[in-house]
Amino acid sequence: MKKFSFLAILFTLILFLAACGSDDTSGGSSDDGGESADGELIGVAMPTKSSQRWVDDGDNMVEQLEALGFETDLQYAEDDVDKQIEQIENMIVKGAKALVIASIDGTALTDVLSKANEQGIEVVSYDRLIMESPHVSYYATFDNFQVGVLQASYIEEALDLANAEGPFNIELFGGSPDDNNAYFFWDGAMSVLQPYLDEGKLVIQSEQTEFEQAATMRWDGNTAKSRMENILSSSYSSEETVDAVLSPYDGISRGVIQALKGVGYGSDDLPLPVISGQDAELASIKSIIAGEQTQTVFKDTRDLAAVAVDMTEAILNGEEAEVNDTETYDNNEKVVPTYLVEPVSVDIDNYQEVVMDSGYYSEDELE
Ligand code: BGC
Repeated sequence: MKKFSFLAILFTLILFLAACGSDDTSGGSSDDGGESADGELIGVAMPTKSSQRWVDDGDNMVEQLEALGFETDLQYAEDDVDKQIEQIENMIVKGAKALVIASIDGTALTDVLSKANEQGIEVVSYDRLIMESPHVSYYATFDNFQVGVLQASYIEEALDLANAEGPFNIELFGGSPDDNNAYFFWDGAMSVLQPYLDEGKLVIQSEQTEFEQAATMRWDGNTAKSRMENILSSSYSSEETVDAVLSPYDGISRGVIQALKGVGYGSDDLPLPVISGQDAELASIKSIIAGEQTQTVFKDTRDLAAVAVDMTEAILNGEEAEVNDTETYDNNEKVVPTYLVEPVSVDIDNYQEVVMDSGYYSEDELE
C-alpha cells in the first residue's frame, strides 16, 4: 500500500514535469525574440577584465542569453589559467547546460572539457580556439587571418609601399603565443608585408623578424612597452627612425606609443610612426582622435555574442548551428565548425561611422 502511494506520487510528479516541459517549448522561440529557455544555466568564461573588449563580450553574452530566458554564470579569470579552470569546474558543478569559453591558454583546458563532456555539457569556443580537445562543438570568432591582413594593408597604404621608394623601418609585434589567434593575425599580416621585407623596401632594424621574437605573452601592454624601449635604444638613433609598427592589439599599441613618446616621438620633428591595433577599445579610439594610434580593427562583440548564443541554443535544442567555415580551425583533435564574423578596419576617417553611429560607443564615453 505504502509502495503504491509512493509510485502514484512519483507518476503524478513525472506527469507534472512533462507538462511543464511542453509548456516550455510552446512558450516562444528565439525567432520571435521571446523567451525560449526555462532558466537553464549557461556558463560564460571570459579571460580578463583588464581589456575592455572582454567586458563588452561578457555583457553582450549575458544580455542576449537572458533575453532568451537563460540564466548565466559569467566569470572572469584575470588571465590566470588555473583560476579559469577552477571557474569552469564550478560551472559544471552548478549544473550548467552549456559552456561558452574564451580561453586564456588555449591548450590548458583538455582535462576540464573532458569533465564537462562526462556530464553531457557541450562547449562553444568563443573568439579563441580551444586546442587539444575533441569536446569543442562550435567555434564563434572573427576572420582572424583577415584581421592581420587589415592591419598590414593599412600600413602598406599609409606608407604607399607599392609606389614609394623606401626603405622604411618597421617593427613587428605579435600576440600571446598561447592564443591560437595570435598566429592567424601574424600570418595574415605577413602575407602582406613579407614581399616588401624580401625586396628590402621594409627593414626591421631590430632584426627581430620571427613570431617567437615578436610575441607578447598575455597580450600585455607593459611587456610590449619594455620591448619597444629596448628596440629603440639598441637599434635606432637620430638617423634611423621608426616609420611603422605592426601591433596586433590596442593595449600593445598604447604600450608601444608610450615607449616612442618616451624618446621624443610625437613631435613635429619626430612624428609617431604608423601604428596598427585591434579591438577599437575606447582608449584607442581616443588615441586615434588625438593623432597617436593610427588604426585599429573593430570587432563588433554584439555580433559575435549573437553567433555564440545561436550556437548555444542549437546545442540545447539538438539542432545544427549555422557555420560558414568547416576547414580552417583545426585544434589538433578535430576541425571545429566555425562561424567567422567580418572585422572592420578603423581610422580617423571612419571611426565616427563605424563605432559611434552604430551605437557601439556613445558620445559621452568619448569625453
Ligand atoms: C582576440 C583579440 C584581442 C586579443 C587580446 C585575441 O584572442 O581575438 O581581439 O585583441 O585576444 O585580448
